[in-house]
Amino acid sequence: MKLLEEHIKNRGTVLPGNVLKVDSFLNHQIDPVLMQAVGKEFANRFQNLGITKIVTIESSGIAPAVFAGLELGVPVVFARKKKSLTLTENLYTSSVYSFTKQETNDISVSKSFLDKSDKILLIDDFLANGQAVLGLLEVAEQAEAEVVGIGIVIEKSFQQGRSLLEKTGYPIYSLARIASLENEQIRFVEGGVTRC
Ligand code: 5GP
Repeated sequence: MKLLEEHIKNRGTVLPGNVLKVDSFLNHQIDPVLMQAVGKEFANRFQNLGITKIVTIESSGIAPAVFAGLELGVPVVFARKKKSLTLTENLYTSSVYSFTKQETNDISVSKSFLDKSDKILLIDDFLANGQAVLGLLEVAEQAEAEVVGIGIVIEKSFQQGRSLLEKTGYPIYSLARIASLENEQIRFVEGGVTRC
């Protein structure tokens, strides 16, 4: 997605440890115009599949998921990372290890919002080592919901998430695919070709 790549090139910075900082439009401040375009792109790719819900993980998956939900006309459910006073029982849960933060979070979704009648699209902001999406897949499995696809805003294709998720067989659609962040340079993958 050209518009997204331009934002990444112009506004993204590379931090040590192969981390891409996109706080100015996705992870802290949110650019609604860009997020609307992101939502439309996901909706176009996953339209006419009978999706009933979008499922994401707090907090940075929420903005792209809500815009996709608006386009597809379906509710958005986000897995919570922290226990909540109002979310204490009847939960689907999974453990997600974050290599970036080097911590494990138990994620949970209330059984009230997901069940076996649902056809769901999973959305997240980043795909790196794939643990967050695998956690969401585990939640979907517990709910016996059908997963129809996985939508990722920024995929770091040089990490193992993509190959791990391909093994699950679900269609994966990443709007920007990053081939490398070496020497603080952002290189994209397109049709198997790497370019700056
Ligand atoms: P995974 O579970 O695929 O390793 O990582 C997914 C989560 O880690 C994302 O939801 C995102 O919050 C965070 N993450 C991983 N890599 C990056 C990165 O390079 N930049 C930012 N901003 N977040 C990242």
